Amino acid sequence: MISLIKLLEQKYKECPPSTQDIELNTKNRDATVKDYNYGPLNVDEPGDYWKKVADKWNTTEEAAKTSLCANCTAFDISPRMLECMPGETSDDDGALGYCWMHHFKCHSARTCYTWAKGGPIDEDEASYDWQKRNLKAAIDPEPIEPPEEKNESLRNWFKKEDWVRIDTQGNITGACGTMKKGKKTTRCLPRKKAQSLTKKQRAATARKKARSKKQFVKNTKAAKVSFKKKKK
Ligand code: SF4
Repeated sequence: MISLIKLLEQKYKECPPSTQDIELNTKNRDATVKDYNYGPLNVDEPGDYWKKVADKWNTTEEAAKTSLCANCTAFDISPRMLECMPGETSDDDGALGYCWMHHFKCHSARTCYTWAKGGPIDEDEASYDWQKRNLKAAIDPEPIEPPEEKNESLRNWFKKEDWVRIDTQGNITGACGTMKKGKKTTRCLPRKKAQSLTKKQRAATARKKARSKKQFVKNTKAAKVSFKKKKK
């Protein structure tokens, strides 16, 4: 009888369903267009697409245009993934790869609002590693969940963990997510974590965030939050 470990190993190496199922791929792509502005639709005639992206990221159009699927951390063009994608995978503008964030075949010359630097994934080992970490979504034959549901679970999680805002002086100023519109985002930390730091340490991680124009900025080493469940 096949062992559970062997079965899991097989799952880690299966092609993601949307690389094999055009309908599922289309649903996930359309959801990413709608919810995360995947585009531009026509790479050669982008219209005001890059302006919108630049506004969203609070940067210039020139800078926005350098943040493409091609160099996104979730863009997988490893040899094994290319084998999962039947048919032509490249054209004059670039090539298709698999997106591990939104689970569809995306194009290297496009982007979306959740772009993150660090890609592409071009080695099989790294590709399998992403699959291990995304196993449910990677083998799930259902379309990706809409962002409202994700946001709902995120909201519940924030509530449960009691996340608080930290200003650049290191003060705890209120509940996370209660910042007035238009104000620069401050650093959020779980209350217990924030209280375990000195005021100087809190200020350091808040200032690191305030200095950057990016949406996601890593905490300082002292303020790093572990998402792993603690062993009892
Ligand atoms: S998450 Fe990255 S790879 Fe996926 S569509 Fe967005 S930019 Fe492209």
